[in-house]
Amino acid sequence: MAANNPLLQSKWKYLLLAVLLILLFLLSLFTLSPSMRSEFAFASQQKADEVNQPPADSNEKAKQKQEEPEQKEPNRPEHKHRAFMERSRERERMVTGQIKARRVSDPNVLNAMLAVPRHAFVRPGDLARAYADHPLPIGLGQTISQPYIVGYMTEALKLRPDFKVLEIGTGSGYQAAVCAEIAREVYTIEIIEELAKSARERLKELGYPNVFVKAADGYFGWPQKGPFDAIIVTCVAGFVPPPLVEQLKPDGIMVTPLGSPFGPQRLVLITKDQKGEVRSKSLLSVRFVPMRGAITEGQEQLKK
Ligand code: SAH
Repeated sequence: MAANNPLLQSKWKYLLLAVLLILLFLLSLFTLSPSMRSEFAFASQQKADEVNQPPADSNEKAKQKQEEPEQKEPNRPEHKHRAFMERSRERERMVTGQIKARRVSDPNVLNAMLAVPRHAFVRPGDLARAYADHPLPIGLGQTISQPYIVGYMTEALKLRPDFKVLEIGTGSGYQAAVCAEIAREVYTIEIIEELAKSARERLKELGYPNVFVKAADGYFGWPQKGPFDAIIVTCVAGFVPPPLVEQLKPDGIMVTPLGSPFGPQRLVLITKDQKGEVRSKSLLSVRFVPMRGAITEGQEQLKK
């Protein structure tokens, strides 16, 4: 029998010894240090030349970061300021009686207007009229738009949570705040430095980390931050500044009043398709304060 063959018997002994030695080697590895243990476990899954790479886990995270920069948590308004708690009944009445009643129905817009404390955007003397159905003066000859117009224009933009919005005419900052409740980021430009400064401070105080205010002529847009998914213009001109059309993304939407500062004005919806083709549609009659700055030179030239 094979077991009685002395040659085979010694072969079995050597095999047993080799197995014992391997077991001993493995055991010594596992009893050394925890870090070596994990390295061994790691090495057993990796090719030899990959052993000194950083752990697979951190490698994966770095890769994900590069591939999905848009995935990072956006800065959202938190509504911690006491103004959000004040005058909520007045806001509800405004939304029901002025906005919903006139067929603005996008729930994002209605919720945004229920949230933003409009009374924090008017002058102290106008607190009692903050939610009334008309525009209000904000100083320096400018106005905060009628709530319905804010709701109507915001709905027309079809804002989504991942949108980057550009506004021309910050004024009080109210329209920017309404957009910032829905969109990811709002870039807003105001030509009157004093208004830009007070709007910036107000929005910071209220906790809108996703609104960025710049004192400049909005005619030129904000090319460094563009292109934009949506553009809203809240002062009237005879034509749309070409840089704004350029800074609109394909499939983007712009809402702007067009017309004469003292005569008839129409709110116009401008869309750009995937091929870059631009179309416009007249929406309704409006009344806005005039756009100033470079546009007036263009308008003068048009008159000649
Ligand atoms: N959206 C504002 C109201 C806008 S009133 C709000 O929610 O309160 C229009 C504003 O446009 C005014 O403050 C005016 O100073 C500003 N404006 C006029 N011409 C401008 C221009 N070329 N660039 C930027 N802002 C301009």
